[in-house]
Amino acid sequence: MNASIGLYERLAARLGERGWTANPADMAPHLTEWRGRYTGTTPFLAMPATTAEVQDVVRLCAEAGAAITPQGGNTGLVGGQIPDGEVLLSLKRMNRIRDVDALNDAMTVEAGVVLEKAHDAAKAAERMFPLSLGSQGSATIGGLISTNAGGVHVMRYGMMRDLVLGLEVVLPDGSLLPALKALRKDNTGYDLKQLFIGAEGTLGVVTAATLKLFARPTEHVAAVAGAMDVAAALRLLHLAKARTGALSAFELMNRTSVDVTVKHIDGVRDPFAMAPSYVVLMEFEAGGGADLEHLVEAVLADALEEGLIIDAQVARSEAQAKSYWRLRETIPAAHRLEGAQVNMDISVPVSALPEYFAQAQALSTALHEGARMVAFGHAGDGNIHTTIMQRPGADPASFPGEAIIEAVQRMASGLGGSISAEHGIGVSRRDELPAYKDPVALALMKTVKAALDPKRIMNPRAMLEA
Ligand SMILES: Cc1cc2nc3c(=O)[nH]c(=O)nc-3n(C[C@H](O)[C@H](O)[C@H](O)COP(=O)(O)OP(=O)(O)OC[C@H]3O[C@@H](n4cnc5c(N)ncnc54)[C@H](O)[C@@H]3O)c2cc1C
Repeated sequence: MNASIGLYERLAARLGERGWTANPADMAPHLTEWRGRYTGTTPFLAMPATTAEVQDVVRLCAEAGAAITPQGGNTGLVGGQIPDGEVLLSLKRMNRIRDVDALNDAMTVEAGVVLEKAHDAAKAAERMFPLSLGSQGSATIGGLISTNAGGVHVMRYGMMRDLVLGLEVVLPDGSLLPALKALRKDNTGYDLKQLFIGAEGTLGVVTAATLKLFARPTEHVAAVAGAMDVAAALRLLHLAKARTGALSAFELMNRTSVDVTVKHIDGVRDPFAMAPSYVVLMEFEAGGGADLEHLVEAVLADALEEGLIIDAQVARSEAQAKSYWRLRETIPAAHRLEGAQVNMDISVPVSALPEYFAQAQALSTALHEGARMVAFGHAGDGNIHTTIMQRPGADPASFPGEAIIEAVQRMASGLGGSISAEHGIGVSRRDELPAYKDPVALALMKTVKAALDPKRIMNPRAMLEA
């Protein structure tokens, strides 16, 4: 305890008045996750503004043997950003755009830069940073890197891992890995930056990153289509990719997703009167001169004629496109209002999606008669967010949530899938990981952790059991 008191005094002296707080009211927003699923505690909230300050915070904590939880925008979905007695290290004051090199299609930003601000900086240089997700008004570059975030444009641009050229990382002893190279080709040994992408703060603190930029598409088209089964929706995916070469998002929503969202969210409506079993939302983008709208219309007409879909619409205005996206993005807020439920972030090979949908519903029904499945998400990547909800009117206490998770995840794993497609492991999936990860891979992860963080001070509760 005395060592800790000494530590907090040393940290406070190093960070200055604006760089820390132990005031419960100021710390409160950092200690609760936005859905209220995790509430934490911390003796000290450090808010460094420079890489040198982050280094000193980590060094002082390492010397005192005090654990650290890094935090960005606190939008993570697996609880890894909420401390349980550790020093909380917020990167939010590290929010400078350090450099935009339009000719090299690269931009260097600090970890606390919010994704929307990174989009704006790229746009100001007439370039584009393509990562796009529902939390982009709050999620930070450091958090997005640490969770290897995905989002809606993965099928065209890849996950965060594919968008990082270089990283600056403070290691668990306070030393610096200055790997901010803006190179697309650099075969000089292990690609160390990849270790820290998706590491959820367990191997070090990301302080800055050099990100890939792209040409800004000049044409955007959004469209929705109604399909009666998953296999037909996937044939539409194949057709749209092959015929346009411009597909950037392919989101699938099952009927229950659409129905609960229309029921609970004001102003959201089903685009189709015929209530298809699946609604597909597609986005296309091109560099100009492609007459994209006509191309998309032709693809949809052929899909209708082939019987892959029963109806389709192309957005004629930005407002119409936004209304499609609003339906997709408000599904999580809607299904939360439907009683006892469990949520999973599953991926399987795209070709296995029809089997996944059928089995997930069948297994859930077998365990809880009348179980309802909300299944939606990035079908173009094989990533389906799956929520199994209780039968209306059932006693929530009788809902076999854990058994359903186990059954659905086992089945997905058997299809060659993953139990965490894009949200990470954090604390919520940590205890399940050993059951699904290959033992050799898990042992290697522990070896890496022990080598980089022998005192186990970096986010010690996240991802790997002690
Ligand atoms: C509405 C909504 C929609 C979402 N949609 C998607 C989606 O489509 N795809 C997707 O992949 N994710 C999605 N997410 C989750 C997404 O992973 C997070 O929003 C984001 O990646 C986390 O960024 P953050 O800055 O909030 O990090 P936090 O939540 O603060 O932290 C997340 C993790 O990263 C660690 N961390 C944070 N900053 C650093 C750092 N600088 N150095 C080291 N470790 C650090 C934390 O310790 C924690 O383990 C969504 C979340 C919400 C709320």
